[in-house]
Amino acid sequence: MTVFCLGSINIDHVYRLPALPQAGETLSASSHTPGLGGKGVNQSVAALRAGAKVVHIGAVGRGDAWIEAQLTAHGIALDRIARVRQGTGHAIVAVDDAGENQIIIHPGANQAQDLAMIDAALATAKPGDCLLVQNETSHQVEAARIARARGLRVFYSAAPFAPDPLRAILPHVTHLLVNAGEAAALVKSTGTALPDQPVEAVIVTRGAQGAEWISAGTEPLFQPSFPVTPVDTTGAGDCFAGSLAAALDRGATPAQALRYAAAAAALQVTQPGAAPAMPDRAKVEQLLA
Ligand code: ADP
Repeated sequence: MTVFCLGSINIDHVYRLPALPQAGETLSASSHTPGLGGKGVNQSVAALRAGAKVVHIGAVGRGDAWIEAQLTAHGIALDRIARVRQGTGHAIVAVDDAGENQIIIHPGANQAQDLAMIDAALATAKPGDCLLVQNETSHQVEAARIARARGLRVFYSAAPFAPDPLRAILPHVTHLLVNAGEAAALVKSTGTALPDQPVEAVIVTRGAQGAEWISAGTEPLFQPSFPVTPVDTTGAGDCFAGSLAAALDRGATPAQALRYAAAAAALQVTQPGAAPAMPDRAKVEQLLA
């Protein structure tokens, strides 16, 4: 089967600083590392490394050779990537000595998705394939609607959390993924952890505390996190989402898929960076053995 992902593609500019800047302050960074990021592409790379066949649908700035080379180096094909007038999305990530961070995102091309390209990509999908979507692009609701109509499972990461996009997309979602903060925001905006739309499952990740799979009418599943010493937790939730979809795509049960995703995300947080830190399936299977 195929895992489709409509998702953001960013250049993450990571700056190391002794402390995070205060309002009005100017600080000099000790290092600057550009890397591939964006929630969408992180999820695609996670699913690819988990062994899935992945089609990433996205948009980058026209003539941006750096980002195209990064995508290719990470195994993402360019044939469903629109080249648009807006520049490639980017994130300014400040990280202090304690590992605390501050992030500014400029969406750029991510908000200029090409609906015709989404349509053409999803026209090749088969019932039972998956679509991953998040909140960092335009047209995720249309993509989810098309995908559901074709019989795909639709995984929606409600991040960054906002009640209106959630309400708009939920009728087309089968699997809703939220972290602890997003789950709290969901309860605050709807009064319940289980939305009134009939999604098949809500998956809640709670960092080092573990993850839950909640489906109406069955006992919730709980997967403890694997104990590791984290170096950089950027992209942990994306690693979990991409790995979970890849595991379900190859026929794993929800419990098996949760366990696979938790092991993958545990390995991911032990490496610096977002997309480059996604673990290969062989490494994950080693941890699970
Ligand atoms: P997000 O990155 O979206 O905030 P979480 O922090 O909930 O998401 O992390 C997602 C998953 O990554 C967790 O459910 C867990 O499996 C794994 N994870 C995150 N932090 C750790 C950690 N410190 N140790 C082990 N696993 C972790």
